[in-house]
Amino acid sequence: MSDPRQDLWFDPSQILIGGAWRAPASGDTIDLVNPSDGSSICGIARGTRPDMDAAVAAAHSARADAWGRTTAADRGRILTRLGQLVLDHTETLARIEAADVGKPLKQARADVIALARYMEFYGGAADKVMGETIPYLDGYTVYTLREPFGVTAHIVPWNYPMQIIGRSVGAALAMGNACVLKPAEEACLTALAFADLALKAGLPEGALNVVPGLGAEAGAALAEHPGIQHISFTGSVATGSLIQSAAAENVVPVTLELGGKSPQLVFADADLDAALPFLVNAGIQNAGQTCSASSRILVQRPVYDEVRARMATAYGSLRAGPAMDDLELGPLISTRQQAIVRGFIDKGRDLETAATGEVISNAPAQGAYVAPTLFADVPASHALAQDEIFGPVQVLIPFDTEDEALAIANGTDYGLVASVWSRDGARQMRLAKALHAGQVFLNNYGAGGGVELPFGGTGKSGHGREKGFEALFHFSQLKTVAAFHG
Ligand code: NAD
Repeated sequence: MSDPRQDLWFDPSQILIGGAWRAPASGDTIDLVNPSDGSSICGIARGTRPDMDAAVAAAHSARADAWGRTTAADRGRILTRLGQLVLDHTETLARIEAADVGKPLKQARADVIALARYMEFYGGAADKVMGETIPYLDGYTVYTLREPFGVTAHIVPWNYPMQIIGRSVGAALAMGNACVLKPAEEACLTALAFADLALKAGLPEGALNVVPGLGAEAGAALAEHPGIQHISFTGSVATGSLIQSAAAENVVPVTLELGGKSPQLVFADADLDAALPFLVNAGIQNAGQTCSASSRILVQRPVYDEVRARMATAYGSLRAGPAMDDLELGPLISTRQQAIVRGFIDKGRDLETAATGEVISNAPAQGAYVAPTLFADVPASHALAQDEIFGPVQVLIPFDTEDEALAIANGTDYGLVASVWSRDGARQMRLAKALHAGQVFLNNYGAGGGVELPFGGTGKSGHGREKGFEALFHFSQLKTVAAFHG
């Protein structure tokens, strides 16, 4: 296996503040582990509160200086150039992400392309967000302006670093905010690479600052910082709740994307050939470490045995192995995450295991592998059908009626994504309205990645929307100007 350090054209132990790379104030590093084999990749900076103070100050200076004066069209040009630079580095970024996150190469490559697509999309949209004129009293002209918040904080998890940076930082920069990005301590190399490419694309100094570090240190210091005017967070419910409390202290808006327990509802009249690949892939993609993973498969009884048998067959050909082997699954992010997921599988001891995939025999013993596992006939109230597992584990739940399916689908704390597989148009429309979810897919799941499609949760899946044009409204605020001229 090649040494991932060979791909790093930047110093991963540094932080980016005000357009300059420097050592963190602590002088410390955190060991970054390759989850495919447990080896150490490199040390990353252990950012702390003084670094966040400097990063937030640099972002404010950028807003007051070159970045604040950059026109919407020029912001768009910079983002578009950045998208092209990302594409030019596709293979290098994919290898870095594969080593850091443990993603099979083809998934890492898809993430690079998505990151570039976010830059293209938000680059093209930057100068197309407009205010309105409002008919009002005699003698008045009233209009609205869409303005950036100012300095935005972006706290990002380890599961899709590039995609999550793309969707939140891309939209925030398009609207003219200056960003402070805190990537996850488990995987932050592509965040640093992206920031370096942003400088090369001509992003003014201080418009994007990147400070890696531990959640309780760097993350908390950023979330609590009084100089921040908006927080975007993706990660666990527990941390999301802390972030929202910190935002409340400073009275700033927060976008929370906290995961889910997303169901696919398969009715007896569904096109099963079309559904099958989506049923399985939506559960095992990125080894199940996806906020919008479909971990619950609800199947109407007349086709339950057939769906179970066909999913079991598909599971039989799933293999987990090192990211560079580019199999269906890589390792989980860490042995800590591996232990969490194994703990859930243990909780399924009383259940029937319908199928498992395999961890290939020559996968390194120090890697964080878990064989994908499908449980059958799972009661809707079981922990495996209620809790976000964040690993390659799916449960099959039988149902009889549409009402029962809806009650099960809506019967968790979460509400991120749902899908309906049925040829009955009226049922599709009824369920699309009734399902608790920020996104509902009819006869598909995930719809090609969906850079253009607004995304976000209800319930404990969070609130606010990212992705699509809609995100531009969430990363800006409206000002009303009422002019009296008689
Ligand atoms: P986490 O929520 O702890 O971490 C996400 C980000 O928040 C990281 O950058 C982390 O450094 C930061 N963070 C942690 N504590 C913080 C704090 N007190 N203040 C500010 N920032 C803080 O997630 P995790 O520990 O990496 O994973 C735990 C669980 O979270 C997973 O098992 C999974 O269920 C869930 N998760 C969900 C998503 C998602 O996309 N929705 C992503 C990652 C993890």
